[in-house]
Amino acid sequence: MLIEHYDLEVTTPPCEPGAERFNAIARFTVDISEVLPYLNATWKGAIYDHENHFLTWRGSGRTITVWPHEIAVSNLEDREEATQVVEQLVERINSTWERRTEIEPSTVKRQRLKALDIYKLLPGTNCKACGQPTCFIFASKLAVKEVDVEQCTPLFTDEYTEKREKLLALLEAAA
Ligand code: SF4
Repeated sequence: MLIEHYDLEVTTPPCEPGAERFNAIARFTVDISEVLPYLNATWKGAIYDHENHFLTWRGSGRTITVWPHEIAVSNLEDREEATQVVEQLVERINSTWERRTEIEPSTVKRQRLKALDIYKLLPGTNCKACGQPTCFIFASKLAVKEVDVEQCTPLFTDEYTEKREKLLALLEAAA
């Protein structure tokens, strides 16, 4: 097991005293740098900075960052959720380390999705079928994985085949 013990600190952001959301940091003494390329190879949508030894993932309004000696998670509902999420992350790191002989490590740094690039490939009609008020808001949420591309149903009609194929390729490249 790579991470056997860790200390968990749960706080509200310093700029938002009394905020209802929490941040969590799990600190450990073991250096987990070596597992980062294996996590990068298997963690869909994660962005890895090999030179600076950290990996980040954004989704569901949350940011997770894994450093050699700590894991930071933002935007948690309460302490219970913080404990659960950190526990799952530690399990994920440990199981990835245990399976490392089956995984091809990767130091590739994926590009972060940009809302404007996504927006250009949407129908651009602001029809609201996705439940969002505009295509640009949908694009902004898709960039951080708060919505699924399938929610833009007009994009999956024949009229938008070319845009759809380009957008799906863009999303796949960033996955
Ligand atoms: S369903 Fe698609 S076209 Fe309609 S507003 Fe949403 S993103 Fe734009």
